[in-house]
Amino acid sequence: MHFATLASGSSGNAILVGEENRSFLVDCGITVKKLLANLSMVNTSPLQIEGIIITHEHTDHIKGVGALARKLNIPVYATNALWEVMEDNLGDLKPEQKILVQEEDLSLAGMNIRLVPTSHDSRESYGLKVTGRKLTLGIATDSGIITEEMHRNLQGCDAYIVEANHDLQKLMHGRYPWYLKKRISSNHGHLSNVQLAEALCEWLTENTQKVVLAHLSEENNTPEIALSTVLGILRDSQARRRCAGLKLRVAPRHIPHELIVLEE
Ligand SMILES: [Zn+2]
Ligand SMILES: [Zn+2]
Repeated sequence: MHFATLASGSSGNAILVGEENRSFLVDCGITVKKLLANLSMVNTSPLQIEGIIITHEHTDHIKGVGALARKLNIPVYATNALWEVMEDNLGDLKPEQKILVQEEDLSLAGMNIRLVPTSHDSRESYGLKVTGRKLTLGIATDSGIITEEMHRNLQGCDAYIVEANHDLQKLMHGRYPWYLKKRISSNHGHLSNVQLAEALCEWLTENTQKVVLAHLSEENNTPEIALSTVLGILRDSQARRRCAGLKLRVAPRHIPHELIVLEE
């Protein structure tokens, strides 16, 4: 299994997940032009993409979805509630391009995907547990808390793309207006570095190879603060010893990180 974030943060999100030469995208909150340019940076042909699965309807996740689906003639996968609120923003799609998914496992590009409800101020929002031939990838951004379902489903994955949105001190002492500080730090906002690190202490096992910290706030976090906070908490909890070979990195905002190929 391989993966890369193609863009990450409030300016636009997209994730590539693949196995052998079959792939799918999680969200596309950037323009088609940028998506195609970023795909080529990880040496992936758009012809490999078999569909786009939607986590929630916020613009930073769906901005380019309609145009990309038309351009590549691929289907879009979303729950009924998400279709209701986003359909008008996607433009014309053929009926067969609109795939309705339930909150249960589905198959896409030869991989199994389970929707894992997160807690966010959108109509609905989901993380994903992706299971390939041998390995699992846990994906979760845009959640104010670690939900029960996240805890249940995201333990012991081989790799993670997870949200480390903000440093709580930086957010609270920063220049955002009060209502925004309240929104971001609420149960339906975004995960702080500490919230995420505490969850990882429980989720990581000796099998875990990679963790990508994603959806960092430009204003209320830095890659250095996110990495040092998460590493510090993992070290204190001994979780780091459990997975000595673990590699941690931050998802860049506008470009992909190198394609991560997991060892089977
Ligand atoms: Zn977002
Ligand atoms: Zn969101």
